[in-house]
Amino acid sequence: MVNVLVWYENRPLPEAAEKEKNVYPQGIHGALAELFGAETDLNVRAAVMQDPRQGLSDESLAWADVLVYFSHKHWREIAEDRVDAMHKRVLEGMGLVLLHSAHASRIFARLMGTRTQSLRWRENDEWQRVWTVMPGHPIARGLEKEYFVIPQDETYGEYFEIPQPDDLVFLTTAQGGEVLRSGCCWYRGQGRVFYFASGHETYPVYYQKEVRTVLLNAVRWAAAGSRTGWPVWARETEPPQQV
Ligand code: ZN
Repeated sequence: MVNVLVWYENRPLPEAAEKEKNVYPQGIHGALAELFGAETDLNVRAAVMQDPRQGLSDESLAWADVLVYFSHKHWREIAEDRVDAMHKRVLEGMGLVLLHSAHASRIFARLMGTRTQSLRWRENDEWQRVWTVMPGHPIARGLEKEYFVIPQDETYGEYFEIPQPDDLVFLTTAQGGEVLRSGCCWYRGQGRVFYFASGHETYPVYYQKEVRTVLLNAVRWAAAGSRTGWPVWARETEPPQQV
């Protein structure tokens, strides 16, 4: 079984709160937990920023094989020691799936070493085409066409300040002509990180069939790096023996 911790900031901006409630009555974490919870190989817990330890306790992170993370405008409020704890767990092998506005999250910037909050954006009602550019990748499994269309989403575009992905799985084109590296994988320590850009909170993106396929694939791909238990030799420990 794969343990999935779904985490949401859960404090929409006042102007978006009602729209979001209409699209996601149980919150984004509720919709994602429902999606993952229907799978027989996934154990799911949902947490929000208002929980003790901001929903990111050492115990929860130790339990998680993969953390699915949706943050937005309040990314600066995540405590330094929670960023440290997530960082440590990713290096130990916990998978991390970052969604949409979590591009700005402190944990993503920490793992990437760049100003990941920096990208072009427009809030509008325009379509996005999500192109598969690595069809053999496990996260693209089950997608039947070269691209799928999200009828309405926020537009994100380049330049997006990320290191070049280890695997670039999706590239999005937008109605306005923007492009974005929108489905990106990195390996950090023993952990796997996937960023997926689609999913502005006032559009029902996470109910769309193709997006759900991507999310399920992403969770299983990211979790596959967990529990490898590879030793880490520090200067303070005994040196490894000759093999
Ligand atoms: Zn958004």
